[in-house]
Amino acid sequence: MASRYRELFRRPFRRDAENNTRDACATLKDALHYGMFMTHLTCTACGLRHEWETLQNLCTACQKPLFPVYDLAAAGRVFTREALATREKSLWRYREVLPLPADAEPVSLGEGGTPLLRAARFGDRLGVSSLWVKDEAQNPTQSFKARGMAVAVSMAKHLGATKLAVPTAGNAGGALAAYAARAGLEAHIFMPRDTPRANIIECRELGAQVVLIDGLITDCGAEIERRKGAEGWFEMSTLKEPYRVEGKKTLGYELAEQLGWVLPDVILYPTGGGTGLIGMWKAFDEMEVLGWIGSARPRMFSVQASGCAPIVRAFEAGEKTAAEFPNAHTCASGLRVPKAVGDFLMLDILRASKGGAVTVDDEEMIRITREVGSTEGLFVAPEGAACFAALKSLLSTGQIAREESVVIFNTGSGIKYLDCYSAS
Ligand SMILES: *Cc1c(COP(=O)(O)O)cnc(C)c1O
Ligand SMILES: [Zn+2]
Repeated sequence: MASRYRELFRRPFRRDAENNTRDACATLKDALHYGMFMTHLTCTACGLRHEWETLQNLCTACQKPLFPVYDLAAAGRVFTREALATREKSLWRYREVLPLPADAEPVSLGEGGTPLLRAARFGDRLGVSSLWVKDEAQNPTQSFKARGMAVAVSMAKHLGATKLAVPTAGNAGGALAAYAARAGLEAHIFMPRDTPRANIIECRELGAQVVLIDGLITDCGAEIERRKGAEGWFEMSTLKEPYRVEGKKTLGYELAEQLGWVLPDVILYPTGGGTGLIGMWKAFDEMEVLGWIGSARPRMFSVQASGCAPIVRAFEAGEKTAAEFPNAHTCASGLRVPKAVGDFLMLDILRASKGGAVTVDDEEMIRITREVGSTEGLFVAPEGAACFAALKSLLSTGQIAREESVVIFNTGSGIKYLDCYSAS
C-alpha cells in the first residue's frame, strides 16, 4: 500500500501535526476565523507547493494536477463524525475539508447527499448479498459532475474569475452551465458535435455559449487552450484546476458515512478523466488522518468502454501512464476520454488498492440497463450500466467473491442518453 501517492499525501498531514508549534487555542481561533483548513496546493507529481489564493490550473513546473492540502490536525479538533449528524444533506456538510473560505457563500443547487441504495434484487440474481448503488443521477443536472462543478465554480468566483470554459463529453457541460448561471459568470462550453442532444440543449437553455467541435474531448481541450489567453477564460477542465476533485472526493466521505464508517470491499467506478476515483482515494486518506476510518481500503476497479479504454490497456500492460486511445468511440459519453491528465494517479490507485480495470461493450451496457431498471427501479446512464456488466464479468473471473460488499457508482441518468436507448 506504500504507493508514491499515499506517501505524498500522508507525509504533509503528519508533518503538520507534529510540527505544529502554535498552541491548540490559537490554531482553533484561526480555524474558526478562516473557517477552513486548506493551507496550500501541492503538485501530485513533483510536490511543488503553490499558494491557493491565486487562480491556478496545472503545476507551474511540471504541468501535472494540483491537490489542495488541509491542516487536518487542526480540522479534526472541530470537525468530528458526530458533528455531521445535525448538518445539511449536501456535500457542504464536509465544509472543513472543502476549499471555500467560511465567509464565502457556496454556489449551490443542493448537490451531494445522494442515496446509497441496496440493490437486493439485481444482487440476488448474481448471488451477491451486499450490493449497493450510489445513485448520483439524483444530483442537480442529473449527474455527479454537479459535485465537482459546485466546488470549482464556487472557488473560481471567489478568486475572481468571470469567464469559465470547459471541454466536455457531455455532463460536465451541463453542470458548468448551471453553476456558472447561478454564480452570474459566463460559461463557454466546447463539446464534440456528436455529444448526446440532451447535453447540448441543456447547456444552451442554461445560458451557456456552446461550441460544437468535429472531434473528441481532447480536441475541445486543445481549442480552449488556443483561445483562452485572448478571451480571458479560466479553464475548468477536470484535474486541470484543483477543485473539481475536491467536490468529487465527497463521494468518499458520503460513502463512509452512509456505511457507518466501514468502507466496502470493492468499488466499481465508470472511469473517464478519473476525478471521482482519485477524489475518493484522497478522501479515504484524509479520513484516516482524521481518525474516522482505519487503514483498510476497498479494491478499486476502473470500468471503461471497449471502444475507449486507455486506463484498462495501460493497467494490463503494467504502464505508469496511459497512451492516448486511438479512434475512441462509445455511447457512454462520460467514458469517451482517450487521454486523461490524471492517468498516473489512477493507475497508482488501482494497483495500490489491489483492484483492476475492465472493459464493457456498448451493446452490453445498453442491454443491462433494462435489467437494472426492471429489478431496481433506476434508469441508469450507460456509464453506470457498464459497472453492473463489469460486476458480472469480475464475478465470473473470480476477481470479486459473492460474499464481498460491492458499491457501484451510477454516475448519471439514462434520460440524457435517449439517442443510445431509442436505437435498441
Ligand atoms: C464524466 C462522467 C463519468 C466519468 O467520470 P470521471 O470522474 O471523469 O472519470 C462517468 N459517468 C458519467 C455519467 C459522467 O458524466
Ligand atoms: Zn509539479
